[in-house]
Amino acid sequence: MNSRSLRLLSLGAGVQSTVLALMAADGTLPGLDGAIFADTGWEPRRVYAHLNRLAEVLAAADIPLYRVSSGDLRADALDPGHRYASVPYFVRNPDGSEGMGRRQCTSEYKLAPINRKVRELLGAAAPDFRRVPRGRVAEQWIGFSTDEIHRVSDRDRVSYVRKRYPLLELEMSRKDCERWLAARGWGETAKSACIGCPFHGNAQWRELRDNHPDEWADAVAFDQAIRKGGARGLPLNGEAFLHRSRVPLAIAPIDRVTRAEWRGRQGDLLDTLAELGDPDGCSPYGCRSGTRMGVGGEGW
Ligand code: SF4
Repeated sequence: MNSRSLRLLSLGAGVQSTVLALMAADGTLPGLDGAIFADTGWEPRRVYAHLNRLAEVLAAADIPLYRVSSGDLRADALDPGHRYASVPYFVRNPDGSEGMGRRQCTSEYKLAPINRKVRELLGAAAPDFRRVPRGRVAEQWIGFSTDEIHRVSDRDRVSYVRKRYPLLELEMSRKDCERWLAARGWGETAKSACIGCPFHGNAQWRELRDNHPDEWADAVAFDQAIRKGGARGLPLNGEAFLHRSRVPLAIAPIDRVTRAEWRGRQGDLLDTLAELGDPDGCSPYGCRSGTRMGVGGEGW
């Protein structure tokens, strides 16, 4: 990279971006100038522990890790005074129809603070870091694997960033990444997502309930608190839920999906997510809002 450019990794701390970070640290992918992790404040403890371990490896390789934040998503989502923290809740409208809230949390809590940090690193002036000096650009590594090629998009393009997808260039799938990590002692790398993300599938909810009871209790309490829409300052005519069944999380049917349901759901991406959750995790660059997730209107 020349002196007017930087090479930066968008580090979600899940499987794929962890591979990129480790490859940068061991020199397989040379020239990384920094990694940026956007913290929603509501990741599971194991993700923060993983990030701390990764930080040590990056530090040893002289690669700065920047932790950035737009605030505490959980607190903001419940704070009536907060401007906006739109989480894609599942909504039951007063007439019984179903809808889904808009997903703006990814943009606000991940994309925005990452872009702000990129502008700062490129030399934008404090305190707002709005204007990047002319001619300065960042090559931003994004950890989409070959099974996620559908997520590659120009939708969030900004003039000072050139996106790059090293795992696509290396032709690595998610499975390849998992094998790569396991062979190096990083096999426990988990998907990163907020504790109470409505995109969790039943498997993720069960994992919380059965193995992380305090985080499960946290999600159940949050689910109860958002029933009338949380912090948006607008009365919600219907009711909001974290689980796609649109019943309280504490009693939601997370233990099984019936065979009949599976048959009826074949070919429907949204419904496949009922069991496994969003297979790709929450990426600032691959948000599905505006696709099938908007079905039924916003419901607010
Ligand atoms: S993990 Fe879920 S709740 Fe958290 S920012 Fe992403 S979409 Fe929103």
